Amino acid sequence: MTTSSPTRIVVVGGVAGGMSCAARARRLDESAEIIVLERGEHVSFANCGLPYYVGGEIAEADDLLVQTPERLRAALDLDVRPGHEVVGLDAEAREVRVRTARGEERIGYDALVLSPGARAVRPPLPGLDSPRVRTLRTVDDAVALRRQVDGGARRAVVLGAGFIGVEAAEALAAQGLATTLVELAPHVLPPLEPELAWLATEELRRLGITVHAVTGAQEVVPGAEHDVVVLTDGTRLEADLVVLSVGVRPDTAAFERAGVATERGAVVVDEHGRTSLPGVWAVGDATVSTDPVTGVRRPVALAGPANRAGRLVADHILRPHTARPVPQPLGTAIVRVGGLTAAMTGANRAALDGAGITYRTLHLHPNQHAGYFPGADQIHLVVHVREEDGLLLGAQAVGTDGADKRIDVLATAIRHRAEVADLIDLDLAYSPPYGQAKDAVNLVGMVGANVLDGTLRLWDARDVDDVLAGSLVLDVRSAGEVATGMLPGALHVPHTELRGRLDEVREAAAGRPVRVMCASGVRSAIAHRVLAQAGFDSASLSGGTLTLRAVLGERARTLLAPRVHQPA
Ligand SMILES: Cc1cc2nc3c(=O)[nH]c(=O)nc-3n(C[C@H](O)[C@H](O)[C@H](O)COP(=O)(O)OP(=O)(O)OC[C@H]3O[C@@H](n4cnc5c(N)ncnc54)[C@H](O)[C@@H]3O)c2cc1C
Repeated sequence: MTTSSPTRIVVVGGVAGGMSCAARARRLDESAEIIVLERGEHVSFANCGLPYYVGGEIAEADDLLVQTPERLRAALDLDVRPGHEVVGLDAEAREVRVRTARGEERIGYDALVLSPGARAVRPPLPGLDSPRVRTLRTVDDAVALRRQVDGGARRAVVLGAGFIGVEAAEALAAQGLATTLVELAPHVLPPLEPELAWLATEELRRLGITVHAVTGAQEVVPGAEHDVVVLTDGTRLEADLVVLSVGVRPDTAAFERAGVATERGAVVVDEHGRTSLPGVWAVGDATVSTDPVTGVRRPVALAGPANRAGRLVADHILRPHTARPVPQPLGTAIVRVGGLTAAMTGANRAALDGAGITYRTLHLHPNQHAGYFPGADQIHLVVHVREEDGLLLGAQAVGTDGADKRIDVLATAIRHRAEVADLIDLDLAYSPPYGQAKDAVNLVGMVGANVLDGTLRLWDARDVDDVLAGSLVLDVRSAGEVATGMLPGALHVPHTELRGRLDEVREAAAGRPVRVMCASGVRSAIAHRVLAQAGFDSASLSGGTLTLRAVLGERARTLLAPRVHQPA
């Protein structure tokens, strides 16, 4: 510990980043005076648990209050002051201006840490001030929503199908409300790739939730009995409650006014969380960070990065010479959607395209554990790797079980700048109830290495129209599988018969490339190897019909319609 420890550390915001910082500061320095100023009534509450209270899985609102000022005083000797809003900052005088129920006061500091989080975005739509419209950011919001539910609300409309919107919709549906989820983007959970997002949409529908995508709200018309949410496509939805969940923005106005440098509203910080003002640090949702994959600057509103940054900033205040820098968040995130888990880490296609990075995309559908062990089910994986060297750039997974573990492993690999082939070598725990001797993550490595060294050539489901126009599609699934739907003009040769029927394939191809497909990409990869070694221009459909159906969406009904196979 340095001898120049500040005597007074003032923290603004008493939840994720702020409280992590205050608690760590105390553990490092018994002599510091640590004051936490919180605008709201509660500190250290479980924001992430709010939807589960609305849905009834967390029974009592008190269970959301992880700590109280009294307990924090007793355990850590923190001076926690709810109902204290910082409205101004004088960096020269090292003072904050604080608004309380008793009026304004000034509090001096030696070190000031800003962790004010983010506010819900409120678009300028008529009717959003209706008392039936709520956001879900605080314990009070959750309690108010639960009251509406318990008070007999029957119909809910959730505006915005990001993580919180999806969680809120599921919670309200679980409480028996007829729930409609409205999303302006082309699909729910916009950061997910479309070929995975459709699984989430199907699951939400299975839960009884009506999903409107590519549609926004135009206005809310308040009424005596209920409100009406009018959508941009003219749909009118009667609602007893409306959850507004269309995004967040850094809650930094008071600090911007005081001269803290910001970028599109988010506080600019250096590698130790220092702002542009001396003696002032910032962490969490309110700060801007650099995407380690794309280099793009953006705020990340996630609890893990805020908590870790809070702790590291306390280190930097009290042990500046040994403090580790605050890592740039990858944006690893996870959400439960009914019986599914959707998880992601690193960059998605949109981010990579935006950054001009060339990459290859792998689709895999491996089982989460040994296929012969009861309960085996597929994890649907999308992994992006850099074209030039296989550097892992991003990964997403959706599945009933095991998606969380695979994304956490892949997040670790991306953090350590692993290349896809490195995944082959990972020594992962295995026994039949938990994994496979070649774990899903090892398989990503094997497929990726094959793609990069040319052993495996892939075609992408998004190119299906070009493929249909210029290639022979060779479907190597079983007769029973193709009976459920096959691309028009495709030749069906089960992969087990391919070696003996190469002449037939050559004749049908008539000089065209052969584009092979199966259900998941495993059998078509084997077929591709047979064809390539026999001199064909061949490629295997990445992710098979599982991915193709997702990419085609409604078109799958016609393009992959059941067909009567005409023998050649
Ligand atoms: C419903 C919900 C579910 C979520 N689920 C997840 C999840 O599952 N996983 C995940 O990673 N993240 C989740 N998050 C996001 C996560 O909670 C945030 O990323 C995290 O809390 C950010 O920490 P923070 O310290 O920056 O801000 P916060 O934890 O939001 O704390 C900021 C605090 O500062 C106070 N404040 C603001 N301005 C002032 C001021 N001027 N003076 C005094 N006090 C002020 C606010 O009242 C607030 O209490 C969820 C968020 C919500 C709302």
